[in-house]
Amino acid sequence: MRLVLLGAPGSGKGTQASRLKAALGVPHISTGDMLRAAVAAGSAMGRKAKAVMDAGQLVSDDILLGMLEERLAQPDATGGFILDGYPRNLAQAAALDQLLTKLGQPLDAVVKLEVPNEAIISRCEIRFTAEGRADDNPDTVRKRLAIYAEQTAPVADFYARHGKLQVVDGVGELAEVTARIKRALQHESAAAGG
Ligand code: AMP
Repeated sequence: MRLVLLGAPGSGKGTQASRLKAALGVPHISTGDMLRAAVAAGSAMGRKAKAVMDAGQLVSDDILLGMLEERLAQPDATGGFILDGYPRNLAQAAALDQLLTKLGQPLDAVVKLEVPNEAIISRCEIRFTAEGRADDNPDTVRKRLAIYAEQTAPVADFYARHGKLQVVDGVGELAEVTARIKRALQHESAAAGG
């Protein structure tokens, strides 16, 4: 299963991806986690990315594509993956399409988690207190939501036009949201005849 999880920051993509990976038997690939690891490791790329991330902006498409290409080439990703945090704009969506076509591994499904902005803002406030992520402070969350609306929302429209998008209600108990995603994926594989 090659799955992209879309949704605004704080919509629960990361949490749901880690709940789904065992059931689907594929790794959870989070570009945000990969960037945070680079920042923690203090690499040159990490140092460059940190300021951009703390400001709630998007890191450059080139860096992301290089990182993703390397990650998808690892053996655990050859049987599929759950992609969380990528693509975040139309250029990244096109680059992903091209990369997966080259690998002969097209996406099976794209699921978008829908959560109203008020719920997102309060979730990020809780995460800010619990984890202290600089980009979860309320002002930066508003900035990230604006970037999401402007740059990432068109990615959902792109996949909808290609008949790949499933929209799932992301509000509710964690287990209930996971069950909704699984139902959407079953629906998807039934529609594909698989
Ligand atoms: P996330 O954990 O997915 O919310 O990502 C945290 C931050 O990492 C984002 O606010 C961006 O600064 C950066 N980031 C993660 N994924 C991407 C991406 N696909 N393109 C650009 N920047 C990204």
